Amino acid sequence: MEIDTDPWLEPTAAIPASDPSELAGTIRVSALHALAYCPRLFYLEEVEELYVQDAAVFAGRKLHEELAEVAEGEWVELTLESEALGLRGKLDALRSRDGQLIPYEHKRGRCRRGPSKQPEAWPSDRLQLLAYACLLEAALNVQVQEGRIRYHAENVLVRVPIDPAGRAEVAAAIAQARELRRSTQRPPVTDNDRLCARCSLAPVCLPEEARLVHDRGWEPVRLFPADDDREVVHVLEAGTRVGRKGEQLKLTQRDNAVNLLPVERVGQVVLHSYSQISTQALHFCHDRAIGVHFVSGGGRYMGGFDYRAGSIQRRVRQYCALSDPNTSLQLARKLVIAKTKSQRQFLMRVRRTRSAVLPLVDSAIIQMKPLIDRLERAESLAGLLGFEGKIAALYFSALPSLLVETVPPELQFSDRNRRPPRDRFNCLLGFGYGLLLKDITNALIAIGLEPALGFYHQPRSQAPPLALDLMELFRLPLVELLVLASVNRGMWQPEEDFAICTVGRGKAQQQVQQVWLSDEGRRKFIQLYERRKQDVWKHPVTGYSLTYRRLFELEARLLEKEWSGEPGLFAAWSVR
Ligand code: SF4
Repeated sequence: MEIDTDPWLEPTAAIPASDPSELAGTIRVSALHALAYCPRLFYLEEVEELYVQDAAVFAGRKLHEELAEVAEGEWVELTLESEALGLRGKLDALRSRDGQLIPYEHKRGRCRRGPSKQPEAWPSDRLQLLAYACLLEAALNVQVQEGRIRYHAENVLVRVPIDPAGRAEVAAAIAQARELRRSTQRPPVTDNDRLCARCSLAPVCLPEEARLVHDRGWEPVRLFPADDDREVVHVLEAGTRVGRKGEQLKLTQRDNAVNLLPVERVGQVVLHSYSQISTQALHFCHDRAIGVHFVSGGGRYMGGFDYRAGSIQRRVRQYCALSDPNTSLQLARKLVIAKTKSQRQFLMRVRRTRSAVLPLVDSAIIQMKPLIDRLERAESLAGLLGFEGKIAALYFSALPSLLVETVPPELQFSDRNRRPPRDRFNCLLGFGYGLLLKDITNALIAIGLEPALGFYHQPRSQAPPLALDLMELFRLPLVELLVLASVNRGMWQPEEDFAICTVGRGKAQQQVQQVWLSDEGRRKFIQLYERRKQDVWKHPVTGYSLTYRRLFELEARLLEKEWSGEPGLFAAWSVR
C-alpha cells in the first residue's frame, strides 16, 4: 500500500494535547459520534456507563463482520489511538486512491437528504469520519483530504472533505467531551424528539417523561418497552444445581434430570431453599445482566448477586440527594401519600361493588381520610411513620370484611402478624412481600442504584431500605390484591398448601404456631405472582400502558429522576 508523504499541513494543530491526568481514558471515536447525536447520550454511555444492546447495534456489528470478510487487499478494522489527541477508535476501512489515503465508514441505514435532496452524511457520522481522519494524520504523518461513508440501505456513497474547519470541529468536540466527563450533571434531553425515537438508550434516558416534567401538557410517546418477556426462573427443588453449558443455563435436579435454558430467555434466576449455583453460572449471569437471588425455604428474601450497571456517578448523586433530610422527607411524604391513598381507594372500590353491610370498611374509609390529609403536613420521618401506622391499622382492620362467606375458617384473616406468620393468610402475604422485595431489589440493581440507601426505611435488618421504600407502592396491587382474590376464589387447600408447626418461644417456652407454604403452595403462589406481574396497567401520569414487571423498573427510574434534575413523576399514582 502506498502512503502519500506530502508535507504536513497543520492538520490537527488546533487540537490541544490532553491533560496527562486524562490520558488514562482516551475518548472513543464512537463516543464522539454519540456526542454529536446527543450530548446526553454521550453522558449516559461514557460517564454513567450505560449501554443497551438493541437490535440496531447488533445489526451494525453484523454488517461490519460481513465487510471484514469481503474487503480483501485493503486495510479493514484499523485500530488507531493517539494520546496527543486523546482519541482512539476502530476505522472500518482505509483505502489508497491516486496516492491519497481515504478513510471509509459503513453505515447500515440511509443517508441524510438536504434541501436539494442530495445525499449528505448525518452530522454524527461526519464527525466520526473527521475524527478518524485526524487519528490517521497523527499516526501516519500524512494529510487526509477526503473520507467516504457508504450508506448500505440505499447503497449511497457520500464524500466528506477533510479541511481545517472539520479538524476544528473535532477539536471542539473533544473539548466538550472532556468537560462532560468531568461533570456530575446529566445534560438535558435533546430538543429534537425524532432523535429519541431511534436512540438505543431511550428506555434508560426516558426523554418523553423528562419532557412531561417540564411541560405537563406533553403527551409522552412510549419509548420504554411495555414488557420484558424474559423468564424469572424459580429453582424450587432443594439440591438442584444451576450451571452453565455454552450459551445456556443448565439446571440439574437431584435425580439428574436436566433442563437447558437459552440465556436470552432468562431475566432472573431465583434460588429457593437449598438449591445451588456454580461460579461459572454466576459469572455468566453477571456478564448477561441476569439477576441471581436467594430466597429461604420460608420465603424470606436473603439477598442477590450484585451485577449493578452504571458508574459511581449515579450512586454519588443518590448519596448526595438522600443525605439531605429535606429531600428524604419530601420523597417519603409522596410515597406514603400514594400508598395510603391506594389503600383507601381500594376499600372504596370494594364498597361500591358489595351490597352487604360492611361497618368496619365504612369506618376505615371515614377515619383514613383526615389522617391522609395530615400526611402533607408531617414534619419528620417519625411523624410520617406514626400517621402511616394508624392508617395501616385501619386498612388491615377492614380486610377481614372483604373475604367472602365461602372462605374456610383456616384461611380467615384477623390481624397482620409478621415473621414468623401465625396463620395462613399472613403466610401468603409474607411470602408475596418476599418475592416483591426481590423484584424491586432486582430493578434497583439493574439501573445502578444503591438498594442499601433509602429515604424512608432505616437500615435495621438485612432488607435493603431503598427496596423497602419502593415496594410500598406495589404491596397492594401485587400482593394484597392477589392474596385476597385467590383466597376468595378458593384457590388454596388449607392442608396440602401449608406446613404448620408449633414451637416454644421466650423464657416460658410459650407454644406458638408457625405457618409456612408447602412445596406445592410455594409453586402455586409463584405461578399466581408471576402471572400478576404480566398484567398490563395504564400509567395514569405517563398515559401509556405497560406490565407491572416493567413498572418496577420505570418507577425506579422515575425515582432516580427526582434527584437528577427532572423531579415530579415518582409515586404520582395510586390504585383506583
Ligand atoms: S433518548 Fe433522546 S435525549 Fe435521551 S440520549 Fe437518546 S437522543 Fe438523547
